[in-house]
Amino acid sequence: MPNAYDVIIIGSGAGGGTLAMRIAPSGKRVLLLERGDYLPREPQNWDTAEVFVENRYISADTWYDSKGKKFQPQVHYFVGGATKLYGAALYRLRPEDFGELRHHDGVSPAWPISYDVLEPYYTQAEQLYQVHGARGEDPTEGPASAPYPFPPVAHEPRIQQLSDDLSAGGFHPFHAPCGVLLTEPNLAYSTCVKCSNCDGFPCPLHAKSDAEVMAVRPALTYDNVTLLTNAHAVRLETNAAGTAVTEVIVDHEGHQERYSADLVVVAAGAANTAKLLLASATDKHRNGLANGSDQVGRNYMFHTCKAVLAMSTEPNRTVFQKTLGLNDFYLRGPDFDYPMGNIQMLGKSQAAMYKGEKPLETKLAPHFALRDIADHAVDFWLSTEDLPNPDNRVTLTREGSVQLTYNGANETASDRLYHQFKSMLGDLGMHPDHLVHRFAYLKTDIPVAGVAHQAGTARFGNDPSTSVLNADCRAHEVDNLYVVDTSVFPSIGAVNPALTAMANALRVGDHLLQRLGATAGATATVNR
Ligand SMILES: Cc1cc2nc3c(=O)[nH]c(=O)nc-3n(C[C@H](O)[C@H](O)[C@H](O)COP(=O)(O)OP(=O)(O)OC[C@H]3O[C@@H](n4cnc5c(N)ncnc54)[C@H](O)[C@@H]3O)c2cc1C
Ligand code: SF4
Repeated sequence: MPNAYDVIIIGSGAGGGTLAMRIAPSGKRVLLLERGDYLPREPQNWDTAEVFVENRYISADTWYDSKGKKFQPQVHYFVGGATKLYGAALYRLRPEDFGELRHHDGVSPAWPISYDVLEPYYTQAEQLYQVHGARGEDPTEGPASAPYPFPPVAHEPRIQQLSDDLSAGGFHPFHAPCGVLLTEPNLAYSTCVKCSNCDGFPCPLHAKSDAEVMAVRPALTYDNVTLLTNAHAVRLETNAAGTAVTEVIVDHEGHQERYSADLVVVAAGAANTAKLLLASATDKHRNGLANGSDQVGRNYMFHTCKAVLAMSTEPNRTVFQKTLGLNDFYLRGPDFDYPMGNIQMLGKSQAAMYKGEKPLETKLAPHFALRDIADHAVDFWLSTEDLPNPDNRVTLTREGSVQLTYNGANETASDRLYHQFKSMLGDLGMHPDHLVHRFAYLKTDIPVAGVAHQAGTARFGNDPSTSVLNADCRAHEVDNLYVVDTSVFPSIGAVNPALTAMANALRVGDHLLQRLGATAGATATVNR
């Protein structure tokens, strides 16, 4: 059977790409289906206007909001998925994120596994993705079984000053975990050149630890792994009893093709994973495949985030800015006994990015020229945990497109974090009153289109009536169907999600290998 495999993985991003790499050395036949193509390596990869104003690498797709208004979501359909454009801030969740956590506006539910279960896989994911960082600086971090494989990326002078000022104020800034192939002591031979065009840009040098470079390409060095690009999985078919997926129906460059495998793993990103399951309804699964709980598509989360620009009193000459994080308000804040969130740096903003940003032009431009703003800008990302709400959900339109209903969550904590940070600006060498909201990554005024951190549409749990997947991320109702992307998250925490998706994919990969009676074998690593 030429189209029969041991494992089919749908989606080659943080979850799917990492899983492919885990299974590759076992010799089992793996088919990796990716609806996009390789992201082109071209001069425009580092062209600020092309990337941030023209949205050159936002893939063409049309989704609908709750009122049926269409919009273009911030999705990236490429080999490597969203990680091709990501900021490569590779954080672990905090141990508390795996338990039930009471927030001001609701409850963040517990995961079916504890931090301790995922910990060895966090360590392996940090090794696979060659993360730079420093343990012991962030008081909220959980225990780790190994040091970071690479030293922290050094702060540049303005960020070192910020770190010193925060420490002087009694806070605990830390070196942010970064996935870049950087050798600072020997920059002449380093793959990464520590440039200003990283966060939100593709890296034409393949020096960013994205899923294509670190997982998919190494997986493809094994003969038993096949990647099919421009291969859009449109439907999963099951046996008559509805207990197993028998075929994956694929639109491959305009032709319909059918593939089968013993195990089928969906990793299409939270919205598209829900879409595929909902589109695969049968007589036995009337609400969508594996959706007896009616949870598929529900509990969509994407972080309650604010990208803000502060104005330094001294020029900010930083090139690579994403080196500092602050979790002092992660679990509680002053006069606020609930989690507030994480503060981290964004990539350094540039004048060309500000075009068309109305809040910025009206609040700062009367006092400062755009170039002055760029010279003094220090860019922060304030991230508060989004809370799962069954009414925040992905459904399908009559034509089968994604419809996204989202009404915000945990706004109180997010506002408290913003005001807390604003109150600190004067002590951090910034103009006290200038903290301006910015669009980050995507030039649009439709907030729901900012789907970069999408998660939670097929959560895993122990109770089949409230979750889609069991603790192994296998569908409760379909014996050979798994999910390994961010859809599985029962809660999202307040730090970036990619490392958790990668670690969980490695964990589920071990389970799949056991089920296939195979062993993992050595993992190929990328030369720096
Ligand atoms: C600009 C930007 C910056 C970010 N910065 C960070 C950061 O610094 N740190 C961090 O942790 N996270 C960051 N993220 C988020 C991070 O990239 C995602 O959380 C992560 O990639 C999600 O992994 P995933 O496997 O769920 O989905 P993805 O990585 O998006 O992979 C899904 C893949 O499935 C493919 N696909 C979809 N539908 C189908 C189908 N039907 N058939 C076949 N293939 C399909 C897609 O093309 C895609 O390749 C950022 C994201 C963006 C966009
Ligand atoms: S900082 Fe390094 S990894 Fe990021 S885009 Fe520049 S060269 Fe690539």
